[in-house]
Amino acid sequence: MGLLMLLHVLLVASAARAPAAHAWGKEGHYMTCKIADGFLTSEALTGVKALLPSWANGELAEVCSWADSQRFRYRWSSPLHFADTPGDCKFSYARDCHDTKGNKDVCVVGAINNYTAILEDPSSPFDPTESLMFLAHFVGDVHQPLHCGHVDDLGGNTIKLRWYRRKSNLHHVWDSDVITQAMKDFFDKDQDAMIESIQRNITDDWSSEEKQWETCRSKTTTCAEKYAQESAVLACDAYEGVEQEDTLGDEYYFKALPVVQKRLAQGGVRLAAILNRIFSGNGRLQSI
Ligand code: ZN
Ligand code: ZN
Repeated sequence: MGLLMLLHVLLVASAARAPAAHAWGKEGHYMTCKIADGFLTSEALTGVKALLPSWANGELAEVCSWADSQRFRYRWSSPLHFADTPGDCKFSYARDCHDTKGNKDVCVVGAINNYTAILEDPSSPFDPTESLMFLAHFVGDVHQPLHCGHVDDLGGNTIKLRWYRRKSNLHHVWDSDVITQAMKDFFDKDQDAMIESIQRNITDDWSSEEKQWETCRSKTTTCAEKYAQESAVLACDAYEGVEQEDTLGDEYYFKALPVVQKRLAQGGVRLAAILNRIFSGNGRLQSI
């Protein structure tokens, strides 16, 4: 292998490992979409499959981290992954949904509403495949509590700490560390086994709540604002007692894990509900 080729391989490998500053990790997005998959109507499944790019091999979950890989190509998409707040445990769309320059509707909630509207409108000029991939990703993100974290510390990204013995930050703990730790501790590093366990919880422990999760009375938009509000409340709990340079271990882990599992479940159920509505016979389905 030539030196240049080797250098290229190394660069690509390190880019692939670089931590994403604002997203559930790869596993979190895969799990959210895999869970959503199980709740899709056959109509929605047909509509989704028709829009998936060929590299997805017909699997929605395969495209759910795509948006993270586009953050440098589509720089404008970067602020669409989150909606931070001043830290009062509340999300207010009018106050909090903007980018750093104050452009309105530029946040994860605005993005979910926007891509839903595009997919519901067969005459929209925007690319429906990219819209679907963005939507599936952002519904995951809005459920990660630290994606509605505090502005001052960039959703916990500047709170440097240790997760057990490894260097991390509070945001990354919620994106990835809790999930990968749980996969290692309880599921023999098997992602599918963790997904099955969450699916069992939905039909078992959470069966009485599951219908409420997907209830959305708004006819004109999604209920993403409500999901951000839930995350803002959970974010306050996640910050509680955590200081710079802390070491987080068992105590924090066992408090966070059930929250993470429930947010993955809710993200999946709600993504399915949004897609079921989009592809429910009117609009897009007929146009493809
Ligand atoms: Zn993201
Ligand atoms: Zn993140």
